[in-house]
Amino acid sequence: MKILNSIMSKAFQNALLIRKEKIAKNTFHLKLKLTNSFENYSAGQQLRIFVGLENVLAINDLIRTYSVWHYDANKLEVDIAVCTFSNGQGAKWASEINVGDTIYFSGPKGKFVFNPEGKQYVFIGDISALAPFYEIAKQIDPNKQIWSYIYSRNQDDFFKDKFSELDFNFNSQNDNSTKLVIANLDILELDKQSTIIYIAGEANFCKELFAYFRNEKKIFIKNLYTKPFWHPNKKGLE
Ligand SMILES: Cc1cc2nc3c(=O)[nH]c(=O)nc-3n(C[C@H](O)[C@H](O)[C@H](O)COP(=O)(O)OP(=O)(O)OC[C@H]3O[C@@H](n4cnc5c(N)ncnc54)[C@H](O)[C@@H]3O)c2cc1C
Repeated sequence: MKILNSIMSKAFQNALLIRKEKIAKNTFHLKLKLTNSFENYSAGQQLRIFVGLENVLAINDLIRTYSVWHYDANKLEVDIAVCTFSNGQGAKWASEINVGDTIYFSGPKGKFVFNPEGKQYVFIGDISALAPFYEIAKQIDPNKQIWSYIYSRNQDDFFKDKFSELDFNFNSQNDNSTKLVIANLDILELDKQSTIIYIAGEANFCKELFAYFRNEKKIFIKNLYTKPFWHPNKKGLE
């Protein structure tokens, strides 16, 4: 294990887990103490975390991607929220890791980031998308309008932002159907030029909503930020 840890610290950055809390039925909040500050961080970006240290031969289960929920450059601390709905390696890692353990990661990176140009903002996704949505929404001028649709089967899956007073709308639904959200959206006045839309979560849900906004609502393509976080038939999307 000593050799492995030495290889890991050369290939990845490392951080220390300084806090772990179960904040919802299926979500852990993890607070990491960094060694170095992030370079060129943008709200909405993700870390690629090494979650397979105890079985490095399971290639599919080595890395999982988790978004930054909050970054404090002065304290060199970063927060992430890890969901366990999947029961996969990422979920297992989050359930088993302890305060004081070392976390190996790369990043942050990604283009699913805050765009300050909007006059109105829309956030749609499941619980796994909540942390990056909060992080992006915190950057928005408080005078601008935010509409949100966060769904899961049960209310006790939902968690509030620990780092702001943001109030997102929770909706109970049993599957990843877009029916309900589209029914709600149909009555919204969305300006195709100045509305910025973020969609994340299950892959088909994201694809259908992208098509809806593009084809029905004629939202400018540059204003549509879509990021599949997971796919029903795949392990750990990048
Ligand atoms: C850019 C990006 C950012 C991400 N940010 C976050 C984040 O901030 N927080 C977070 O929790 N996850 C996030 N994810 C998803 C995360 O990377 C993992 O894919 C997810 O946690 C599942 O990993 P796992 O190893 O537990 O399960 P896997 O082995 O990947 O999957 C096992 C099974 O569970 C299913 N599954 C996966 N996720 C879910 C789910 N949410 N609900 C129901 N079934 C599911 C899979 O389809 C598969 O059948 C992000 C993904 C991407 C691509």
